[in-house]
Amino acid sequence: PGSFTPKQEMQYKTKLTQALKVGYKILNNGGSSLDAVEKVINTLENSPLFNAGKGAVFTSNGINELDASIMDGKTMNAGGVAEVHHIKNPISLARTVMTNSPHVLLAGEGAEQFAKEQGYTLVDENYFYTKKRWDSLQKIKAREQKRIKNSKEQTSNVVLNDEHKFGTVGCVALDKNGNLAAGTSTGGMTNKKFGRIGDSPIIGAGTYADNNTCAVSCTGHGEYFIRYAVAYDITALMKYKKKTVKQAADEVILNKLVKRGGKGGVIAIDKYGNMAMPFNTSGMFRGFITDKGVATVKIYKE
Ligand code: ASP
Repeated sequence: PGSFTPKQEMQYKTKLTQALKVGYKILNNGGSSLDAVEKVINTLENSPLFNAGKGAVFTSNGINELDASIMDGKTMNAGGVAEVHHIKNPISLARTVMTNSPHVLLAGEGAEQFAKEQGYTLVDENYFYTKKRWDSLQKIKAREQKRIKNSKEQTSNVVLNDEHKFGTVGCVALDKNGNLAAGTSTGGMTNKKFGRIGDSPIIGAGTYADNNTCAVSCTGHGEYFIRYAVAYDITALMKYKKKTVKQAADEVILNKLVKRGGKGGVIAIDKYGNMAMPFNTSGMFRGFITDKGVATVKIYKE
């Protein structure tokens, strides 16, 4: 609260509602949860408001390195891409990795080579530029320099900290056939260095879907989400401890992660359409749309 003007909040809410309607249309016409997840995320990737696709944050070197993953809860197939620089919609490439390759995760130049062979047009790096994200990088770098001077800390120890705002996008969906899907797409964390890859492209950490339990997409400090296999942990609590989706998601986000200092949140949906969206930060842009087409979007704790 206080970080955004009412006008900015409205812009986010409008874009989220638009994305929810894109998903609704697909699902209402009998489309698959995978299609809904991909197209909803495309809508958010194409908006400069979010840290994914256009509007992604900058690395320490002043470029954009994008990560994404998608999972099909029916087949347990999954695909991901990491550190791509020229892919307009990384979630779509993640889906192509899932469907058109024997692999789960492709990174960097190899992933882009695969994209070319699959007929993708690579976009110029400048496509991802937004002034807001560029200015954030400059601000963080200035603060980092000051800190290094004062504490003689090594730069590698100050790569990631609380000043780095999140803004990853994700979507989870349940379709008419009872199939669950989850997807996540991100630019990662501002000022990331050394080819750092977060949780978003990693199945089990940032994304997971299993028709027997739930579909999960995460946002937050990726290192924690990887260490604690957050997305998978939520499904495991449902599977082995018979927790509900809300109990499982709350346990991981509001208890386990909080104790360990991991900030972030998740969106999750089970096979009955029960949802959970816990976060341990002061806000998380989020929304849902029901089978009646009623959309709700929220930003802060309400
Ligand atoms: N989880 C992402 C990462 O660590 C960041 C985010 O969610 O905003 O790369």
